[in-house]
Amino acid sequence: MKTIGKKLASIVVIVSLLVIMGPITGLASQDKVNSVSVDDRWMSHEKLRENLYQIEKDSAGKVQVDVVGYSYQGREIYGARVGTGDKVLLINGNIHGNEKSGPEALIQMFRTLGTSDNSLAQSVREGVTIVAIPRLNVDGAEVTQRQNIFPWKDAMEAFPQLVGAMPPWYYHERNGGFDINRDFHPNVSYEPVPEDLPGTGADFGFFLTNESRILRDVYLDLKAEFGEVEAFVYIHHMGTPQMIETGEDVTIAIDYPPLGPEDNPKYADWPKLNQDRSRKYALAAALGVKEFSDKEEPGVARYIHPEERDLPGQARSSFALNGTSTVLFEMPGQQPRFGYDQELIDRVENGLWGIAARMADHSIDRLNGDDFLKLPKYWTSHVSDMLALVERYAKEGEITGDEAARSLKTHLIAVNHYEEKEQANKVVKHMKSFKLLLDQQKENRFISDAVYNRLMSDSNYLIEKWQQ
Ligand SMILES: [Zn+2]
Repeated sequence: MKTIGKKLASIVVIVSLLVIMGPITGLASQDKVNSVSVDDRWMSHEKLRENLYQIEKDSAGKVQVDVVGYSYQGREIYGARVGTGDKVLLINGNIHGNEKSGPEALIQMFRTLGTSDNSLAQSVREGVTIVAIPRLNVDGAEVTQRQNIFPWKDAMEAFPQLVGAMPPWYYHERNGGFDINRDFHPNVSYEPVPEDLPGTGADFGFFLTNESRILRDVYLDLKAEFGEVEAFVYIHHMGTPQMIETGEDVTIAIDYPPLGPEDNPKYADWPKLNQDRSRKYALAAALGVKEFSDKEEPGVARYIHPEERDLPGQARSSFALNGTSTVLFEMPGQQPRFGYDQELIDRVENGLWGIAARMADHSIDRLNGDDFLKLPKYWTSHVSDMLALVERYAKEGEITGDEAARSLKTHLIAVNHYEEKEQANKVVKHMKSFKLLLDQQKENRFISDAVYNRLMSDSNYLIEKWQQ
């Protein structure tokens, strides 16, 4: 432990020097050293360690903290465990280094679970075992970048069979690291081979990073101990979208695994996949956000999930293929640009309680997974979504003149008709002419640039979808 502490200290000094020197020497990439400085209220690595061990100490044996592995730069990756229930909930934060609310929410939740005797904390401790890795991407978090730090040349040294191969599609050259959340494979003993690289988003990942292997190993240990890992949740950040129908800011978006259409033949070899059960867990999170808050929480949304979305290399997808119910939290705004936000952190925590409480009293099994699909959306998957958008923009005065709004709507109503009849050629043809109409209306200043850009990108999405 002591040697690691020392090593860590010297790394931290080097990293800070780089941050200070970056803008002067011009060597630092913009992704790493943003002109916006990181809000220092987000926990540092040292602060996270301090908080975790303090909670362990205060909990008088209820919470255990361990080092579950090390990053490329030698930082400890911590795991924390609480509860004695026979169902296990695995929670992960900060798999992307610039998405920092996960560790904050988990520290709050573990503090309560470790020290409170309120009925909720007692019920969760008795009914569930919660294991958390609050910050997986410890190196990326230090420099606030999405990827970990693991230069491809060092990856080739670690996996000599890959010398001469292309780096995987999720390697980021400039940041010198991998998107850890694309590095998972449902075959948990998979080892990378050059023929599989570089791959695409529709392929499984390659277990190239320490971090993906550490999370996998924690998962496998729990599976060995409990038989199944009942549920897995991880916490991310995204952009700052608004709901289609109301224009309300999205304050949390929740999702089940993106594995293409229901009963996708591609995953026939993975019979334990149960999307309906994941949707029950996702719904429990949404309910938790509302129940444990003293506000209305109108900003709870479904995260972007058109039925063709298929990303099996994500941790949640690979674990789901192994029979675990998995849930994604996406919080608005990434770091460093978006500062510390206590309300946002509380919202994450409330969502986690929503799942844990319903696991503890088994009421999660009685939820209807389809109810999750009734949560509001902010993204377009059908022409009807674009129609709803146009209606909102017209109401908000973003479209000038009744005639402009009417012609956009008339056009979309026609395309909607073709979409419902699945007449792909007609959908594509009429979406293309809709784009011409948008150009015209922009030129005549009937629609703002923001409206134009949104409707244009939605049109392009639908054209691409129906051209296949
Ligand atoms: Zn993320």
